[in-house]
Amino acid sequence: MINKKVKFIGLDGDDTLWHNEIHFQKAQDDFCKLFKNINPKKIKKKLLEIEKKNLPIYGYGIKGFNLSLLETYIYFNKYITINKVKAILDIGKTMLTKKVQLITDVEKVLMQLKKKI
Ligand SMILES: [Mg+2]
Repeated sequence: MINKKVKFIGLDGDDTLWHNEIHFQKAQDDFCKLFKNINPKKIKKKLLEIEKKNLPIYGYGIKGFNLSLLETYIYFNKYITINKVKAILDIGKTMLTKKVQLITDVEKVLMQLKKKI
């Protein structure tokens, strides 16, 4: 006989329990403002390509994303000033210091799930 009582519930965190992707989208928009005369869509496409290439090295997360921003900037500009390095690092720092923003009603849903365990 199989015991059907729920013992564990596993949930993904990012964009399931709390907002995450909105911060990455905002960071990309801020990053694109550092460029002149390059279409943001083209920048974001190259960034995604560089992120995918770097994924086996950096893994997922803001710090790896931040390094990919730097690499993308260099790809388009061939050189980088210290002010641009600082601006790019600040994009990552801003992301890292964001307060966790729970998705609407997530606490209520988790409390309901807890009753089933
Ligand atoms: Mg997720």
